[in-house]
Amino acid sequence: MITEKLKTIESLIAAACEKAGRPRESVQLIAVSKTKPAEMMAEAYAAGQRLFGENRPQEITAKKPLLPQDIQWHMIGNLQRNKVKYVVGQTALIHSVASLPLAEEIERQAAKRELIQEVLVEINVAGEESKQGADLEEARALVETIREMPHLRLRGLMTVAPYVEDPELVRPVFGRLRALLEEYRPLTREPALFDQLSMGMSGDFAVAIEEGATLVRIGSAIFGERDYGRN
Ligand SMILES: *Cc1c(COP(=O)(O)O)cnc(C)c1O
Repeated sequence: MITEKLKTIESLIAAACEKAGRPRESVQLIAVSKTKPAEMMAEAYAAGQRLFGENRPQEITAKKPLLPQDIQWHMIGNLQRNKVKYVVGQTALIHSVASLPLAEEIERQAAKRELIQEVLVEINVAGEESKQGADLEEARALVETIREMPHLRLRGLMTVAPYVEDPELVRPVFGRLRALLEEYRPLTREPALFDQLSMGMSGDFAVAIEEGATLVRIGSAIFGERDYGRN
């Protein structure tokens, strides 16, 4: 079941890449496994999936020992400062850095562990009231500040587009994030490594890929709908 879903997603990703004239390897699929049991993740792993996305530190901590060690964990959700210590060094990439205090805490925890944590700055491109993510002014300031944090490596930008029936309606949101990546690149410490765009979910990933996504975060289209109204 999950294996078939992954195959379908793979062919859709390949088609979107082809349509955009991009190599297939320029896009990585993050299987968003939040709220789903380790057994389902193991099935995806057996089908070849290695990148998984979670939005709760406790869930990463709980599932990690149950699964193979070569899984790459991605923290994609709102991260509280007091939980930073559980994800620094435990995740390949933290996608959701949206405030200075959060960046500072990640820097502090990474310094303590003598490692470099890769991060993305999350931007609320559409300016939705209900969404997390930095506004454009905050985002630029964050990029400039992270430049001076030796234990953070800024790899790019992330956004969650507004939910819409027709993904064409959010194409401009993705295009805007891509433009911001170019705009901010000269402000970064390692411009050549500032190359990741985390955008696109189950309903809109094809459009996101056409607009330059390098990391798509797909949950329900792989694992089915989530329960408890949680996301
Ligand atoms: C849950 C979640 C996703 C996956 O959403 P689906 O619509 O199930 O694909 C992607 N990104 C973030 C930040 C999420 O919280």
